[in-house]
Amino acid sequence: MKDIVCMSGVELLMEYLEGALAPDVRAAIEAHVAGCQRCDAFIASYLETPRIVRDATRMEMPADLEASLLAALRRAMHRHDG
Ligand SMILES: [Zn+2]
Repeated sequence: MKDIVCMSGVELLMEYLEGALAPDVRAAIEAHVAGCQRCDAFIASYLETPRIVRDATRMEMPADLEASLLAALRRAMHRHDG
């Protein structure tokens, strides 16, 4: 079961869509989204959202949360590799 970030990673997805993520994180998200209809649908709806709404709902992510999400992404990728 590949339980990468999904809905718990909405902020991460937003960063991804803003192009603000490190390349390795982007790659992990792309790999997940490619096989996840929920995230794919989320991104599609996000792209249809007016930018003013995006800015209003955008949140800062604490560095320690980002680090733990990164660790979770890497674990998920390694599981997926097998
Ligand atoms: Zn997902």
